[in-house]
Amino acid sequence: MSSAVLRFAPSPNGYLHLGHAYSALYTDLWARQLGGAFLLRLEDTDITRCKPEFARAIVEDLHWLGLDWPQPVMVQSERFPIYAAFAERLWPRGLLYHCDCTRQEIAERSTATDPDGAPIYDGKCKRHGLAGGGDRQIQSRLDLHEAVALTGPLSFTVLGPTPFDRPQIRYARPELWGDVVLQRKGTPTSYHLSVVIDDDAQGITHVTRGRDMEAATDIHVLLQMLLGLKQPIYNFHRLLLGADGRKLSKSKDSPSLRDLRASGKTPGAIRAELGF
Ligand SMILES: [Zn+2]
Repeated sequence: MSSAVLRFAPSPNGYLHLGHAYSALYTDLWARQLGGAFLLRLEDTDITRCKPEFARAIVEDLHWLGLDWPQPVMVQSERFPIYAAFAERLWPRGLLYHCDCTRQEIAERSTATDPDGAPIYDGKCKRHGLAGGGDRQIQSRLDLHEAVALTGPLSFTVLGPTPFDRPQIRYARPELWGDVVLQRKGTPTSYHLSVVIDDDAQGITHVTRGRDMEAATDIHVLLQMLLGLKQPIYNFHRLLLGADGRKLSKSKDSPSLRDLRASGKTPGAIRAELGF
């Protein structure tokens, strides 16, 4: 019996489109090839953009595509105390610091960009030793320099394009990201923090994600080491591009699965189109 566990983890901040369908079907295929489980997780820590109606639509659309998963579904917004407790472990080690810089201030001061092309944080608030607490809305950042000094060189295993290919070892370079935000303003967490905690909590063995998430995996590998979490095997799948050459989710011409269903498309036709 295989103990492989995989997950599809969308954010309910809009309707699913073909790019999501591809990722979900891909993950389900890997789970079946490995004789393992396919789980759904709702990554809704951004409470300003995520909505219950989108969460319900995700469940409905995935069922319509023919996917199913065990209950209960993990919902990140129900787990804020758990994320807060993990972050608390990093404060006494001097690995986090408060920051009240705005996006614009950071962009104005920054002299370099991260792998996603965003301005790298210049560490101003680390030098100033900003106080947090109270009802002050403030974010906290991971001190990458300290963190990397603590863990030493990090690597992880990449597998693919099929689960039966030869695994490859890759070295992580989290320092390319600078001091990333680990707790966003008004929440005890961020995408990076929640995803590694939940992959460990759900016993995820293989993370299948789009190539746009390849570089960010270096941050996740660092956090797993700092927090004593299990490191899954990673696979990076292709991205569906729109006619404008951009990733489908960001593209203008990406109809939602509900639009496609309303226009008479069948789940079988979508599967065939995506190669499943
Ligand atoms: Zn700052």
